[in-house]
Amino acid sequence: MSTRHAPDLVSDELLDLTRRLGAPERDLVILAEGNTSELVGDEIVVKASGASMRDADRSSFAAVDLAALADLIDDPSGDQEQLTRALEEDGRGSTVRASIETMVHVAVRMVSSVRFVAHTHPTPVLALLASVRSETAFAEPVYSDELMVLGRPLHVPYAEPGLPLGRLFARRLREHLDEWGEVPSLVLLGNHGIVAISQSVEGADAISAMAVKSARVRLGALQAGGIRGLGEDATTHYFARSDFADRRAALSATAEAAQLQEGTAS
Ligand SMILES: [Zn+2]
Repeated sequence: MSTRHAPDLVSDELLDLTRRLGAPERDLVILAEGNTSELVGDEIVVKASGASMRDADRSSFAAVDLAALADLIDDPSGDQEQLTRALEEDGRGSTVRASIETMVHVAVRMVSSVRFVAHTHPTPVLALLASVRSETAFAEPVYSDELMVLGRPLHVPYAEPGLPLGRLFARRLREHLDEWGEVPSLVLLGNHGIVAISQSVEGADAISAMAVKSARVRLGALQAGGIRGLGEDATTHYFARSDFADRRAALSATAEAAQLQEGTAS
């Protein structure tokens, strides 16, 4: 079927990203939490169910067929049983099962052919996303560096991982794209975690790290009496600056960003 064991497709960069984000001292994930993926041709190479990010190796991933899973998200008659079957290798020998959260990685690639997606459960961010301020905590930027790295984050309310989350996530992403004309760098999943979206390992890592810092800043501000944002005028001004746009592009999901990064590296 659509899922297979494909260690040859696991890049050094995907392994590096996975292990970096899985480092215990970063407290982004524990045990088998979280998952990373890379778009490779018309497949997504995604962490397998049950594998830990910190110890990930080439056998910790599965390759899934993007079009088949995207069809399942868009087909209202698709059900969880079909999804379970689609995420399992119909295989001879050792079986591999892609994470149930693969649908988050699929939903992103339904709107953008971005290379890397990293999903984690950072404790300070989850503290806010599990609070009464889940929807509003990140609605306004509070300092310029987070605005540059995170752009305009998208909040997606809680849905059960699998098809319900995949469908809601895909819908909210399309709405965000219609409203702002760009794929968000950071998606906040209510009562769940974060999704970092970038053309590069460095970008996905920076977005994840900044999400944690931004959460800590907010938790501190709440202890000091409440969050005061940068304000609409300051935010609009930053987005209008060309140097700001260039730095944003280097971290984001656009094809131009990939070219820009290649240009900068050479
Ligand atoms: Zn998760």
